[in-house]
Amino acid sequence: MFEVEYLDIPPLKDAGGTVRLPGSKSISNRVLLLAALSRGTTIVHDVLASDDTAVMLTALEQLGCSVQKNDDTVTIGGLGGKLGTKKASLFMGNAGTAMRPLTAALALLGGNFELSGVARMHERPIGDLVDALRQLGCGIDYLGTPDFPPLRLYPGNLKLDAPICVRGDISSQFLTALLMALPLVAHEDMCIEVVGELISRPYIEITLNLLARFGIQVRREGWQRFTIPAGSQYQSPGHIHVEGDASSASYFIALGAIAGCRRGQNGIEIIGVGSESIQGDIRFVEAARMMGAQIDSAPNSLHISRGSWPLKAIDLDCNHIPDAAMTLAIMALYAEGTTVLRNIASWRVKETDRIAAMACELRKLGATVDEGTDCIKITPPATQLEWKTAPIHTYDDHRVAMCFSLAAFNPARLPIRILDPKCVAKTFPDYFEVLFAVTEAAPASIPVICIDGPTASGKGTLAAQVAHQLGYHYLDSGALYRLTAFAAARAGVGLDDAAGVARVARDLPISFKGDRIFLGLEDVSDAIRTEASGMAASRVSAHTEVRTALLALQHSFRSLPGLVADGRDMGSVIFPDASLKIYLTASALHRAQRRHKQLISKGISATLQNIQHDLEARDTRDISRRSAPLKPADDALLLDNSDLSIEKSVIQVVDWWQGTRPF
Ligand code: C5P
Repeated sequence: MFEVEYLDIPPLKDAGGTVRLPGSKSISNRVLLLAALSRGTTIVHDVLASDDTAVMLTALEQLGCSVQKNDDTVTIGGLGGKLGTKKASLFMGNAGTAMRPLTAALALLGGNFELSGVARMHERPIGDLVDALRQLGCGIDYLGTPDFPPLRLYPGNLKLDAPICVRGDISSQFLTALLMALPLVAHEDMCIEVVGELISRPYIEITLNLLARFGIQVRREGWQRFTIPAGSQYQSPGHIHVEGDASSASYFIALGAIAGCRRGQNGIEIIGVGSESIQGDIRFVEAARMMGAQIDSAPNSLHISRGSWPLKAIDLDCNHIPDAAMTLAIMALYAEGTTVLRNIASWRVKETDRIAAMACELRKLGATVDEGTDCIKITPPATQLEWKTAPIHTYDDHRVAMCFSLAAFNPARLPIRILDPKCVAKTFPDYFEVLFAVTEAAPASIPVICIDGPTASGKGTLAAQVAHQLGYHYLDSGALYRLTAFAAARAGVGLDDAAGVARVARDLPISFKGDRIFLGLEDVSDAIRTEASGMAASRVSAHTEVRTALLALQHSFRSLPGLVADGRDMGSVIFPDASLKIYLTASALHRAQRRHKQLISKGISATLQNIQHDLEARDTRDISRRSAPLKPADDALLLDNSDLSIEKSVIQVVDWWQGTRPF
């Protein structure tokens, strides 16, 4: 997952391949709570691992529920309707799907609880749910602003024969919360009346569907009245599978409709949702088709490719797909004419005011946007020249971040900067990795930062940290020469046998797992770091044949979203078109001192004098060899870090990098 402050996405061109969706957030959090309230143990498969489900699981554990995580299953020991504790302070983050149902369940079960969240959660209304629960005699106080979290719950005198009315026109989550909580006290028939037009009905269908899986058969009269039969009791179904997230699918459906077809691929295949999905957002498929997407659906998968191009503008009531409809707003950038998305008032009370957020960010790209109280109208930039780029604010809203990544297909071929990209962790922690795995950019548009320099100049540490900060890949090219020398010695090939070593280099069975390097199945990370191994690398690297043999492997590291490469000839030979080249150096004494410290800390004995002597010998060989000698590229910036901390060097490089960007 990206830890970075911003992520620059290069202009994207084509897409193709298979996407396995993470589990649905709405289903995961409902199932986890229902399992906790049930009798018996439930094994939940394919549960989403994200911020919102982590919040729910932590709360359930605090309430005395046993939770065991194992790969992609979570085993919940049900409480059978009885809490393990009657007092707790629960932090709900920004997870509406945890805050609302837990409030209702805990208020009815009785006890002293405090429920709070992040600042935005304290701006998301909950008054209608509290009003409904107070009718039942539940004890609830507001700890901050009336009608908003945080809340204090305390035991009340339940009046279960009172009629229960709840507003349905602000958020369907209030009704869901009641439907999930009332079976805990259903000694008599419990009847809920919905006041106002019920929005987001598909989410209620998910709730009813899952309640049935846990033994509760709700009777429904239209969308006005719901009855939980007397004697209802939660019973674990044993095992339950969580579907892929249909809202998350929307980004890849849109991707298939927008992107050109990647060579050797046949559109985008999405696994995890399909025609048998119980999630309302699956109907995004219909809207995407109206805009021109070519979509075939199977029970648990979808296949998408470009249909009409450019896309067609639509005018659509989006009440049935409130979350996925945000993706239509981005597809509108690629449509001819003005797209109007109506009946989306609920956007205003989500993770952020999504109508305002989408309008503001779409305008930054050059679109003309009209914002209504419950609708948005989007007209794309009229010509390629009118497209603009700018850092996209994401408002701690995962969907804003995911939507705007698709703006990277703009015809002006402008990169897109997504601020705070890690906010996608709410529902799709590895969204960007999945996106980059199925998209393609022209290789020349994938940025490369080269950091070259002599032995022990600290380029490895610097390059790795810059890569981490930008969310880019990292190539330690020296490791490839070290591996080559190591593998050649293993194979009994003499280090001066240029052709023999080149053959070894061409077929290196290398792989990377985290920061470990493997040759075949063997972890050689430490073996190739010795001084002797560095010397051997320096010898084999002098052969032109070996350098040529390692060319394609080095080029293959240039992949989305970008690369930081360190070595001796990254800027001068391997990536001559790199947007930023740095030649990093430090005095021989400084470098020897650093290496000395490093070796001593690893328990390897060495004298400073010997190290300096070896370094200088290696420098001389690297500088004086005929093939790709060590020297600054003509357009490299020089950085002498003799007296710079690593943090300061990173800041300097990222600063130079920022200077090359259009933002
Ligand atoms: O950077 P490192 O010390 O791991 O590199 C080991 C040796 O590999 C260097 O001394 C140099 O001779 C060689 N090398 C090279 N070209 C690169 C990287 C390393 O010739 N791009």
